[in-house]
Amino acid sequence: ATKSSGAGALIYDSNHDVSSQQSLTFASELKSAVETNQLALYLQPKIDLGTGHVIGAEALIRWNHPQKGLIYPDSFIPFAEQSGNINKISMWMLAEVARFSGEWQHEHHLPAPVIAINLSARDLVDHLLPNKIQEMLTANKLSNHAISLEITESSIMDDPKRALNTLNVLSDMGLKLSIDDFGTGYSSLSYLKNLPVSELKIDKSFVLNMENDKADVNIIRSTVDLGHNLGLKVVAEGIENQNVWTALEGLGCDFGQGYFISKPMPADQFGKWLESWTA
Ligand code: C2E
Ligand code: CA
Ligand code: CA
Ligand code: CA
Repeated sequence: ATKSSGAGALIYDSNHDVSSQQSLTFASELKSAVETNQLALYLQPKIDLGTGHVIGAEALIRWNHPQKGLIYPDSFIPFAEQSGNINKISMWMLAEVARFSGEWQHEHHLPAPVIAINLSARDLVDHLLPNKIQEMLTANKLSNHAISLEITESSIMDDPKRALNTLNVLSDMGLKLSIDDFGTGYSSLSYLKNLPVSELKIDKSFVLNMENDKADVNIIRSTVDLGHNLGLKVVAEGIENQNVWTALEGLGCDFGQGYFISKPMPADQFGKWLESWTA
């Protein structure tokens, strides 16, 4: 790919490989983004579809770029994964969530809602990941239930043996694990059976248009049934209106998140949002 250097090189273009020049530029911009606090933690609430109660939140990263403004993760996470920089981002995210939950617990004298962190394939092959997570939780006086982890099927299938090993250690530590974007990757039900996960997340691509597409409804129904038959909770993302909430609840889906409940918000707004939420 030939692209201008500087901030322009940040934008990931899936049609082209990342040139080494772009990688270098990106790596240094990312390094300074981490060091100068340009990354931001956003939270999106996750609710019980039956009661409307908030049961947790998902941590979603944003990049406040000094020139380009707010950059969404789809334009830099794949690049970071490809260029070997994702671990830095994951560690920043873990530290930021632990700090947020630690402060919340200190101020409210109660644990914060469980915050789910997205992990990448490269995180799962890092055999030190469980230790790093334990250190951050302990340093912030948090229990191992303070966070949960979301992993995609494809990230596991990169190196299933090592990933499964890491996931087993994390699960033994008491961390809850979710399969993210379920049904969009190459699913292997024989792996699913053996994964120490407690939750399936239905990708928004099945939810956004379910009012108009009977096939999406059928896929969601089957996924909910599959999840429940395996003893898992099922979460849907991409709920943009009341009808979809009601339909998902009718299909037996346990939990949900989406713009209708709340868009992802800067973490420091979450407490206020929670006070105003009356479902
Ligand atoms: P994801 O894990 O599938 O996260 C859900 C995405 O759906 C988020 O996009 C969220 O803002 C969006 N979303 C939620 N509700 C709705 C809705 O009602 N309508 C629509 N149209 N969209 C909705 P976002 O924040 O842009 O993140 C995109 C992806 O970037 C995430 O997809 C995840 O794969 C990745 N990502 C985000 N933060 C991190 C991170 O800290 N680490 C890693 N490794 N990946 C991350
Ligand atoms: Ca996710
Ligand atoms: Ca994803
Ligand atoms: Ca998704």
